[in-house]
Amino acid sequence: FLEIRNVHKHYGNVEVLRGINLDVEEHQVVCLIGPSGCGKSTLLRCVNGLEAISAGEIRLEGDRITGPGVDLDRLRREVGIVFQSFNLFPHMTVLQNVTLAPVQVLKIPRAEAEERAMGLLRRIGLEHKASEYPDRLSGGQQQRVAIVRALAMEPKLMLLDEITSALDPELVSEVLNLLRELASEGMTMILATHEMGFAKEVASKVCFLHQGVVHEEGPPEQIFGNPQKERTKEFLSSII
Ligand code: ATP
Ligand code: MG
Repeated sequence: FLEIRNVHKHYGNVEVLRGINLDVEEHQVVCLIGPSGCGKSTLLRCVNGLEAISAGEIRLEGDRITGPGVDLDRLRREVGIVFQSFNLFPHMTVLQNVTLAPVQVLKIPRAEAEERAMGLLRRIGLEHKASEYPDRLSGGQQQRVAIVRALAMEPKLMLLDEITSALDPELVSEVLNLLRELASEGMTMILATHEMGFAKEVASKVCFLHQGVVHEEGPPEQIFGNPQKERTKEFLSSII
């Protein structure tokens, strides 16, 4: 479904990604773990074209999505991304945030987009907040709105970059519950996460990034229960 082949990325002289290989099947939830600075965010940003890669290739459903001639607008419609700090537009209501791209980019009639948006808000229990501005919502509520805003584009793939790490602990679970639901519905997702418990529970595959490559990957039982590589063991013991 998604094929990442020998992807390199450098900023000036610093090579952040040094030959990443990773396959994601449809309906899989892939968790990227690894120390701060190992390139998790960079890799996600490369997958939806926010960063150009230096070498290698990424394919989505067989189509090349990196390199010359790629339709970035189409790519960003098909691949949703949600970041750590909720980036809802502060001057727009919740409903306007969720309908903006469907109306402007997908050209869905406003009434229809609003109906769909209300459906998404209902599902996260925030229908009553539709007319509020983001600063009137809790962090967890804002982050759930950011997720359904991405879902409103009906992406094929969702990229989630540490989406719970800016949240107070008591708000984390409501965001993780939404991700659990999406996973059970078969949404294909790649998550950069420090939530090892969550990764253990929902991941189809866990990838440990180290020195710019996928150093070890496998089912969560293996990575967390019986890691094969020294570096993986060191990393996991350093975070608990
Ligand atoms: P964290 O767990 O802290 O989020 P990460 O694994 O997401 O870390 P990245 O944000 O991908 O790490 O950063 C990887 C490396 O690339 C870091 O050393 C960072 O300093 C560097 N880097 C990221 N973006 C840029 C940029 N725009 N220009 C120069 N260097 C960058
Ligand atoms: Mg990051």
